[in-house]
Amino acid sequence: MTRFAPSPNGPLHLGHAWAALVAQGRAAVDQGTFLVRIEDIDGARNRPELADQFRADLAWLGLSWREVAPQSQRIASYLAAAQVLHGEGLLYPCRCTRAQIAAGAHGMGPDGPVYPGTCRPSFPYRGAFAPAPDVAWRLDMARAMEWATTRHGSLAWEDERRGLQQADPLPFGDVVLWRKDAPASYHLAATLDDAADGVSVVTRGVDLFRASHVHRLLQALLGLPVPRWHHHGVLVGPDGRKLAKRRGAAGLAERRLAGEDGAALARRLKDGRFDAGISLVDTIDLAP
Ligand code: GLU
Repeated sequence: MTRFAPSPNGPLHLGHAWAALVAQGRAAVDQGTFLVRIEDIDGARNRPELADQFRADLAWLGLSWREVAPQSQRIASYLAAAQVLHGEGLLYPCRCTRAQIAAGAHGMGPDGPVYPGTCRPSFPYRGAFAPAPDVAWRLDMARAMEWATTRHGSLAWEDERRGLQQADPLPFGDVVLWRKDAPASYHLAATLDDAADGVSVVTRGVDLFRASHVHRLLQALLGLPVPRWHHHGVLVGPDGRKLAKRRGAAGLAERRLAGEDGAALARRLKDGRFDAGISLVDTIDLAP
């Protein structure tokens, strides 16, 4: 069971088509099911109307899939998991602004400036878990790693293409698991959903390779099954940066509505024939 999990905060482009084809191709290897999950909890950036466009784009490429519940219908499960982590004393509230964090950051981590720990309590936080618009809830990363490794030993995970890994989420610092402007963060929601959906091979772009270290830790903390991962190369433009609509990548919907043959495009992609100026990059430390 694999999945493609697009966020409706902008139209799909060629990079998404590639990711969806890889995920479906990987499912087919095991005669498995290819799932699509709409990750629609991205605060102000969320545009629910795009989900129908995504479905039309994927069908145009000739894909077939089983759609599972979108994230907006799963908030109760995120809340329950956050409460478990809070009960273990692994979450704490943080009211710092972006500017404060950037000013004191402990360097750059995979997700951006590393939180300097301003609000981190010295002892496990025992106040109530009370989500509010001015409060983010962070995972005390060092404490969480200690908790997990004391109970589970080392946290191994397997990337099908890069072999056995040991979870090393410390470079992220104290990640936000419950956001100010939205419910659960990507890390918490995606980890819970993959477990709930029975995803056995998490297929995603190599740009998210490091995030899987955090997800492996969350699986240990929450007693979730550990899948395998398949981090695939991502498409980059002539500037060497990942394709993005804001950097001019043509949307799939635009191409579909202009009458292009989607099945032919999918065949070209599967053969590794990308549009002019576009190439596949397969390194973990991709320029953002
Ligand atoms: N919703 C995420 C995105 O569009 C998916 C990441 C993932 O595959 O885990 O980037």
